[in-house]
Amino acid sequence: MIDSIASRIASIRQQLPDVVKVIAVTKQVSVVAMREAYAAGVRDFGESRVQEAEFKQTQLQDLTDITWHFIGRLQSNKAKKALEQFQWIHSLDSLKLAQRLDQLAETLEDKPQICLQVKIVPDPNKSGWTVPSLLADLPELNQCSNLKIQGLMTIPPLGLNDSEILSVFECTRELAKEIQQQNWSNIQMQQLSMGMSDDYQLGVQAGATMVRLGRSLFGERTAVNAVNNDSLV
Ligand SMILES: *Cc1c(COP(=O)(O)O)cnc(C)c1O
Repeated sequence: MIDSIASRIASIRQQLPDVVKVIAVTKQVSVVAMREAYAAGVRDFGESRVQEAEFKQTQLQDLTDITWHFIGRLQSNKAKKALEQFQWIHSLDSLKLAQRLDQLAETLEDKPQICLQVKIVPDPNKSGWTVPSLLADLPELNQCSNLKIQGLMTIPPLGLNDSEILSVFECTRELAKEIQQQNWSNIQMQQLSMGMSDDYQLGVQAGATMVRLGRSLFGERTAVNAVNNDSLV
């Protein structure tokens, strides 16, 4: 590796407005590399598997000021663990799961911060609300008083060109604005989690407040890193 993680982080930070939070996506990334990112100033880490995150959180217990973001598909049977391990959930994708999290969060002192995952264009490979279904579910989402709903998250389908991707992000921003204007008592729309390594510039151009970066910080993920937790130390 020619570039260090620190220099990659520095050069990406330099391109981004201060208001944009970088979430370092560390699925299949070793704990050593995560410590390097931490040393370079990263405090927000994103994981897409509850179990992998649990392992890393144990290894990184001494770093007490990390904010953990869950970005993967959340299964109902992992919901309780996810709430215990993560301060943010970017990938809440159904009313049913929202209501389950709401119930589970009732006894938590720190209520979970939530982004609602939305599909602006149809995509059979992605979970999330379609725009009409999200608008229809807002009254019930507003009842989930133990969730701090902060905004929207979206992942454009594969195979779009840059202007199509930009348009997906802009539509997401406009949807957030529309929801904000409805003045729900328990739904905020200040946060837009939009953009990964290949499209974060477009996300930022469209108003992202959080970008989720894996490969651009840590290099390509290799299958060998994913084999077991031992390889992640
Ligand atoms: C893996 C992943 C990322 C990071 O992807 P890169 O292309 O490595 O930046 C971001 N968001 C989600 C939901 C992911 O699963």
